[in-house]
Amino acid sequence: MNFNDIRGQSLALEKIQTDIREENLSGAYLFTGPQGVGKKMAAISLAKALNCKQNSINGCERCSSCIKIEKMIHPNLRIVNPEGNYIKIEQIRRLKADSSLKIYEGRKKVWIIDEAEKLTQEAANSLLKTLEEPPPHLVIILITHIPRLLPPTIISRCRIIHFSPLRDEDISEILKKQKNIKAEFIPIVSQLARGSMSEALKLIEEESILKERERAFNLLQRGKALAKEAFTLSERWSTQKNSDIETLLNIVLFFLRDILLLKMGNDVSIINKDKEGKLLKMKEDFSLSHLCKAIETVEKSKFLLHANLSAQLILETMWMRIFYPEYNLING
Ligand SMILES: [Zn+2]
Repeated sequence: MNFNDIRGQSLALEKIQTDIREENLSGAYLFTGPQGVGKKMAAISLAKALNCKQNSINGCERCSSCIKIEKMIHPNLRIVNPEGNYIKIEQIRRLKADSSLKIYEGRKKVWIIDEAEKLTQEAANSLLKTLEEPPPHLVIILITHIPRLLPPTIISRCRIIHFSPLRDEDISEILKKQKNIKAEFIPIVSQLARGSMSEALKLIEEESILKERERAFNLLQRGKALAKEAFTLSERWSTQKNSDIETLLNIVLFFLRDILLLKMGNDVSIINKDKEGKLLKMKEDFSLSHLCKAIETVEKSKFLLHANLSAQLILETMWMRIFYPEYNLING
């Protein structure tokens, strides 16, 4: 794995590679951006490039140094993760003891501090001393998706590299290269992942959300006949954390949008490719105005989720308004 394997981050990678090319490296970097978009892959790729025996700006992937970094056994590479909930001062002290040792192969020592927002105050202070006077042979890479939790004194010592959410197309391209993923699920998973590869893999591995998707589809298909089931479903969904409820609401939304698209004769852009046949039949069950109202209801429910109301009530109301568009169960 090297810089070439990271998708959708050309701006961030261009900045890093320019620093390597121009030998203008900072002693410390802060890689920020959403979870699961390639920050850690970029950090490891940087470690490769800085130690590659072929001097390849990408890391050649063949020399003994690149291979050792890939296997995480290179003496110059240290990756720190939280122990429990925090990155503790002892972990930073161990790094420091190690960095005082001479380099006996490669060119740069690289510390990758993942989930840097979890540094304790003491650990951050200890790290700050190194950031203030970084040894020339060391590059420190802090990784975080919540930079506001880092002390400003730390941030000000780092060169900041922003990573963006991935585009749906990038996620879909990455998923296509993985084994064991049914092709028909790729469009829907890419859309539900909200720009994060780790979210996409979670959706596939955990399967629970995809099972709920089946239930939601069944509800939409059978409509009023399953009104009771809607209450059971709402109760179960309401116990999930907000970001998961939002994913579930997006599932409902994407079904409704697909039906709308099919109704308008557009079968190219639909997301739920695996359900296309059934969705085609369902388009007869919904009038245009019914669909538009239902879509608006789901959008509104997503908004209300953040307004500190009972999630169960929001979900129950949503389903009732989807089944009975003529009723106004909540104002507006
Ligand atoms: Zn190499």
